[in-house]
Amino acid sequence: MDNMTFVLFGGTGDLAKRKIYPALFNLYIDKKMPETFSIIALGRKETSHAEFQQVVAKSLETFSRRKANDQAVLNAFLETIRYAALDAGNLEDFNKLRTLVEQREQELNIPDNRLFYLSVAPEFFETIAFNIKDSGLGSTQGWKRLVIEKPFGRDLQSARHLNEQLGKAFDESEIYRIDHYLGKPMVQNLEILESSNPILKALWSNHHIANVQITASETVGVEERAGYYDHSGAIRDMVQNHMLQLLMMISMRLPRKGDASEVRMKKRNVMESLRPLQMDTIAQNVVRGQYAAGEMNGKRVPAYIDEPGVPAGSKNDTFIALRLWIDNYFWSEVPFYIRTGKRMKEKSTRIVIEFKEPLKGQNTNNDPNLLVIEINPNEGIFIQLNKKDPLNNEKLEPMRINFYECGTDLPEAYENLIHDAVRGDSTFFAHWDEVELSWQYVQPILDAFEQDLIPLSYYPAGSNGPEASDQLVAADGFKWWLDK
Ligand code: NAD
Repeated sequence: MDNMTFVLFGGTGDLAKRKIYPALFNLYIDKKMPETFSIIALGRKETSHAEFQQVVAKSLETFSRRKANDQAVLNAFLETIRYAALDAGNLEDFNKLRTLVEQREQELNIPDNRLFYLSVAPEFFETIAFNIKDSGLGSTQGWKRLVIEKPFGRDLQSARHLNEQLGKAFDESEIYRIDHYLGKPMVQNLEILESSNPILKALWSNHHIANVQITASETVGVEERAGYYDHSGAIRDMVQNHMLQLLMMISMRLPRKGDASEVRMKKRNVMESLRPLQMDTIAQNVVRGQYAAGEMNGKRVPAYIDEPGVPAGSKNDTFIALRLWIDNYFWSEVPFYIRTGKRMKEKSTRIVIEFKEPLKGQNTNNDPNLLVIEINPNEGIFIQLNKKDPLNNEKLEPMRINFYECGTDLPEAYENLIHDAVRGDSTFFAHWDEVELSWQYVQPILDAFEQDLIPLSYYPAGSNGPEASDQLVAADGFKWWLDK
């Protein structure tokens, strides 16, 4: 792995403290960082290097997966960090930053390989990219990379604009768009699961699969984020990025080599095969929901509309369910259902694959075979099969074969992704084609919301979403599996 400099814009922010420093520290403990590296953290306030190193120490104490038992290891890690104040719009600050970066490169005798991580609000993405270019920070003999947080645009047009602008300072191959769902160990496991298990591989098509269900449900409400969330809704916050990425990961054809360019192509093929939503039938395929007041763990919780900061009369979507069709050779006629929401009964991200019952009609009481992939908060896989009820030989009953990844101290998504970015592997990042095609798919939904073509269905907090979501699946003769 090349020695390098990690430049962190937004180094004093919430994400940096909760995820990025802990990820860097855990990678350091695991010897997954380059032999010599420098971290330059940036924020708006003036602080000394030493004071800021203590801020990082505190964030590690609170948020790191592994604690720093060995003071020498912790000190050595903290010693890699320098801090500078910087205003995104001030080119002079970038010139000073370049001096600091170069000074550290000389002190450490490392090449000018530079990774710029933008953990700042999206309105700064373009300005920072330009100032990196204009200050000469991006003119390196070595490599340069831009790691960028979500959201990437707020519709198709703004995403295209942002991409065009970033393209003036960085090549597509240098841009690493974070979708932290792609960093989750079970998501990274999906292609292996399918490609290295002949019993699954043999069944992996529309001949044997009846439908695929992808759920990401949260129990929390909007919390203090109404300012952001009321303009985003579940469609932008979850569906355009995370949910469609999960769909691509579960449905793409097996990459032969599995390298970044092949994975990108396979994912793009999925997106290009998605049947576009039509305005006249969109309400039959999309459910828009918002949580009403309800009961969670025996406690009354308010409706979305009564949460602090939510504007009166807001029709924002806190829940989306969607039926999608992938019109290719392998998946035609297999409905994919996506559902995501806040204030739902259970916190869970999972994919359920329901297999066809070839003898349907003869054995009407059989439960179908299911393959369930649990992504979050537990990581596991189970298969549901049928067996004879030993007390009543006439009857069959389902049994589950479980595997849970318990007791293993798994790396967090940010650890996996930062490790990949540092070593230059973009397989588990969102490439532009995927982002653009996802916005293209989602754009009619945004337009339909704007024109009020899709009714807003209310669901009580603590439920599994609006009834319309159950009806969406029931219309095809199915049901959502594993609802509590
Ligand atoms: P934050 O508000 O906690 O931190 C923002 C950072 O930006 C601070 O370090 C601040 O100093 C810096 N900043 C603000 N104005 C600046 C300016 N004019 N010039 C230079 N720096 C400036 O935000 P956050 O929660 O850490 O989120 C950062 C990014 O990550 C955002 O794009 C957000 O959408 C994304 N994100 C955050 C989370 C999360 O869990 N917090 C999750 C996913 C994505």
